[in-house]
Order: sequence, then structure tokens, then C-alpha cells
Amino acid sequence: MVVSSQEATLPKLLLLGLLFVCCLAELPRFEHAAKPDGSLSFLVVGDWGRKGSYNQSQVALQMGIIGEKLDVDFVISTGDNFYDDGLTGVTDPAFHQSFSDIYTARSLQKQWYIVLGNHDYRGDVEAQLSSTLSDIDSRWLCLRSFILNAGPETAEIFFVDTTPFVTKYFTHPKDHVYDWRGVLPREKYLKNLLLEVESGLRESRAKWKIVVGHHTIKSAGHHGNTDELNMLLLPILQAYNVDFYINGHDHCLEHISSTESPIQFLTSGGGSKAWKNDIKPWNPQEMKFYYDGQGFMSVEMTQADVGIRFYDVLGNELHKFSTTKHLSSAI
Ligand SMILES: [Zn+2]
Repeated sequence: MVVSSQEATLPKLLLLGLLFVCCLAELPRFEHAAKPDGSLSFLVVGDWGRKGSYNQSQVALQMGIIGEKLDVDFVISTGDNFYDDGLTGVTDPAFHQSFSDIYTARSLQKQWYIVLGNHDYRGDVEAQLSSTLSDIDSRWLCLRSFILNAGPETAEIFFVDTTPFVTKYFTHPKDHVYDWRGVLPREKYLKNLLLEVESGLRESRAKWKIVVGHHTIKSAGHHGNTDELNMLLLPILQAYNVDFYINGHDHCLEHISSTESPIQFLTSGGGSKAWKNDIKPWNPQEMKFYYDGQGFMSVEMTQADVGIRFYDVLGNELHKFSTTKHLSSAI
């Protein structure tokens, strides 16, 4: 029997499609329990690893004090964990000098959930991802992309590896050498990552959806918006009603409330060196807060409420806002 080429091709395509769906990996998932009263609190710091210099130690001290006050459950790092060029390997003393020996307060002896920044990609990325660092300091948990079920159904926090999205690191790396092991071929990496994030968000039953990445989506700071994330990631966040996008990269503290969607864009990149007066004009209706100095952010949440505060290097509260959801709409 002669089979037409069209008939022969169709099952093959279907098979390929099924294989693709079957092979789509899910993002690694972790769970962090809420406090006995159901609430959660955590700190967010970014752009920090400078062996204590540029006020890193001062920010760490205040994180310890606020962390104690809020009895934080965990800490999030938005990346650029080690300047200037990540870690040289798992034995790099910078791990102690910039992390273990700096964030020493009792309240910060909790799990740290960490993403990579562009500076981390200039060193040995596999070292930061290695379980050896978790063996050295059990607080350390760094993956490229993963999901944290906090509460476990109060919030789902999606950690997204944003550095591979930025084209110029590939086309114009200047004199930097990026460690792209595990990322190439880039197109496939990004496509899979976007599918995994979309699939996770689609299935999420959490009351609050939070996405964390190193790079900005919306920012009036030095780097400004990241075009690739606006084009590829933002539409997914909008489609699945993400509440907060939290990033570093711009060395400032910032809160932008966009007119295009309900997403609140929060920058916490003030962990050490800050960039004074480095700010671009922005729609004042959207710009809720911008601080060009060092500091960090706290998040307190229940199923019904989220409260966010920004602090400077002296622990002064600079900006706060809160938002509420009706529990009746909970699934
Ligand atoms: Zn950066």
C-alpha cells in the first residue's frame, strides 16, 4: 500500500509533539512552612558580595535587627552574589568573606533562596550551584530556576534565571568571560525555561504569586528596563496574574506600580555599592518610591495581606505599602 507523504508525516509530528510535552521538565520545587499562625516573613537583598565593603556589613547588621523584629522565615537574594566575577570555585574564600562571615546575625541563620546575577555568570557558575557550598554553609540554596511553595499555599515564589535572556552578554561581552555551561544552546534554554515558568504559574493554587529574577523588568535606575524580559517574560506574568516581580541589578531600592497591569515591580539591589543620583525620568503616577542608596526590603504576608517595607543602611524605614486579597476567592 502506498501511503501519501502527508499521512506519513502527521503521526510523526504528533509523536514529536508528545515527546516534547513528555520531556518538558518541571522546575525544581521546595517547600517552606509558615509560622504557626499562618503568616510568613522574609527579607530580600541583592547585589551584595563585596567582602563587607561599600556598607555591605552595615546593611547586613540592619538586616539582622529587622530580621529579629519580624522573626523572618527565610532570606531571598536577587543575585550578583559575588563581585566582580562570581566565585572562582567552591574553595574561593569570597564565599566566607562575602556571605558566611557577613550575615552573622542570629535572625539570618535561616534558609537563603538565591538566584544568579550577571556578575555571578562571570565566574564558576557550577560552584555557586554546587551542593558543596550548602555543605559548608547550610543556609546556601542557589539554583538557576526553581519554585518555592511558601506557606505552603500562601505564596508560590518563582525564581527565574534572567542572565541568559540578555543578548548583549552574548554579542558584546566586552572583556568579560561568561560561564555559559548548561545554558547553550541559548534559544532552547530560554524556550524551555519560559514553558516551565508558564506551566508552573498555570498550575499554581497559591494565594500570592511572586516572581524573582536578577534583572529588572521595569526600573528607572542605571540599567533601566530589560527589553528581553519585557518581551518574553512579562506577558506570561501578566497572563497568570502575578502579584509581584522582585529583582536586583539596579543598585537601588524601588517600587513601580505599572498602569499596564496590577503587577508591582520591586527592586532590592542595595546590598552594598549604590549609585547615587543615577535615575532616569519615569511616569510619576507609576513611580511610588526610588532610593539611590544602600538597603534592603522586607515582606510580611498572610493569605489575605502582604506588607512590603524598604529600609536604608541605618535601618530607617523609607517606604511601605500593603495590599489585600479577599479570602473568599481562595481556592
Ligand atoms: Zn547585575
